[in-house]
Amino acid sequence: MILEIKTFPDEILRRKAKPVEVFDEKLHKLLDDMAETMYEAPGYGIAAPQVGESLRMVVIDDTAGKVKGRLIEVINPEILEKSGEIMEEEGCLSIPGEYAYVKRFAKVKVRCQDRHGNEKIIDGENKLARILQHEMDHLEGTLFIDKLPSIKRETIKKHLKKRIQAGDYVVTGGKK
Ligand SMILES: [Zn+2]
Repeated sequence: MILEIKTFPDEILRRKAKPVEVFDEKLHKLLDDMAETMYEAPGYGIAAPQVGESLRMVVIDDTAGKVKGRLIEVINPEILEKSGEIMEEEGCLSIPGEYAYVKRFAKVKVRCQDRHGNEKIIDGENKLARILQHEMDHLEGTLFIDKLPSIKRETIKKHLKKRIQAGDYVVTGGKK
């Protein structure tokens, strides 16, 4: 099932998400729906808060579905190691149509759980490292625009205001 993607400045995107504690059928269905929603968008990753569920989990495919079998489910992640630096252009399914260069670690080692609660380690480099960091930021209520120099962030916000007035950008939920 395709889920509604929440858009900035919907307040759910600003909440710190809660750990996943129950690895049941309901969770598996949500993971399946998140993947379907990500592929349909299409995007390289989606975090549960982006579909209105304040839980610490994300799904990622660094080919956005171009290569089969690349889907990664990441539950309750934490970064164990990080190193290096990359600067690439990023976008976000929750701020569609806006892009900016964001500085990230070039390599991250992430410990997380799979859909059955088993521990796993993901070694991410370059693009995968960047996606992991972007998606994990969502679990803290952080968006890529927060990482930009304020001048660039204000430019994006002004642009969004114009787009909202023009009916070219739809805000879900609302701001508290
Ligand atoms: Zn995002």
